[in-house]
Amino acid sequence: MNKNLITLVGLLLLVPLMFTACQPAAAPGAPAGSSARKTIVVTYSVLGSVVRDLVGDKATVIVSMPNGQDPHEWEPSAKDIETINKADLVVQNGLGLEGGMEKTLQQAEQAGVKFFTASDHIQVRKVGPGEGIPTGDPDQAIGADDPHLWTDPSVMKTVEMALAAQLKTDLGIDVSDRAQDLATRLDSLDKEIAATVDSVPTANRRLVTGHESMGYFAQHFGFKLVGAIIPSITTQAEVSAADLAALKQLIQDNQVKAIFTELGTSPAVAQAIGKETGVKVVELTTHSMPDDGSYFTFMRNLAKVITDGLK
Ligand SMILES: [Zn+2]
Repeated sequence: MNKNLITLVGLLLLVPLMFTACQPAAAPGAPAGSSARKTIVVTYSVLGSVVRDLVGDKATVIVSMPNGQDPHEWEPSAKDIETINKADLVVQNGLGLEGGMEKTLQQAEQAGVKFFTASDHIQVRKVGPGEGIPTGDPDQAIGADDPHLWTDPSVMKTVEMALAAQLKTDLGIDVSDRAQDLATRLDSLDKEIAATVDSVPTANRRLVTGHESMGYFAQHFGFKLVGAIIPSITTQAEVSAADLAALKQLIQDNQVKAIFTELGTSPAVAQAIGKETGVKVVELTTHSMPDDGSYFTFMRNLAKVITDGLK
């Protein structure tokens, strides 16, 4: 290659680089003079999916917890903490779901980072009597706040509408059209799931799960919570031999059709209970997203696995 050609190739390579460097930091279509694109950090993946759907390309959405990690347990790295502290808004579930992030989130809030807490905007479900949870430990007792709000699409609709309002006041981002569209789609999803689970006979609508994660779903779609392998609203609780014996009795007394295991449940314990009670063990995805990253797919999968397991 001669020298002139090398120079020409070099110039051609430089042109796109220069062009990229001149791109404004603001979102495409942002009015002149508006500040740089805002960053919203969401703590976990299921909520993150709905926030992405709501926000579209009007802000950058970052989810802290890698998908597939147990949200009750996951702890942020120094880099994750830095991202949270630099966020224009942090969206969290609340009610202790983000157990391993709690200190980081509190510190960020105290330092002045803006927060949206999903559970502040909904009717919080309380652990009820007869849910197979022993009293004593305040986190597990009757009356404790249930953080698993995302298993009910109507609750997620309330959350996204509230977030849309806060995005406008806190960040000056108007997503009202998207919020309305998302609300309509969540309404349809709600009806679709009700139709899916409709085929489960009333007598079979009894849930045994890894931990008590399906309370909002049960309340909304007419299922009874019989018990959980980890008898708690978090995976981070102790299981005693007495708890497991009580659960086996509950499974038999209620003629439960399936035991649903989840992230954070010991597969060996689930299999042992299944074997001893003669009940099949089915894996249920309650705390992580499907490959397409869609909350809608997540909920459809949840309803289908439960329906197939119990009918
Ligand atoms: Zn959970």
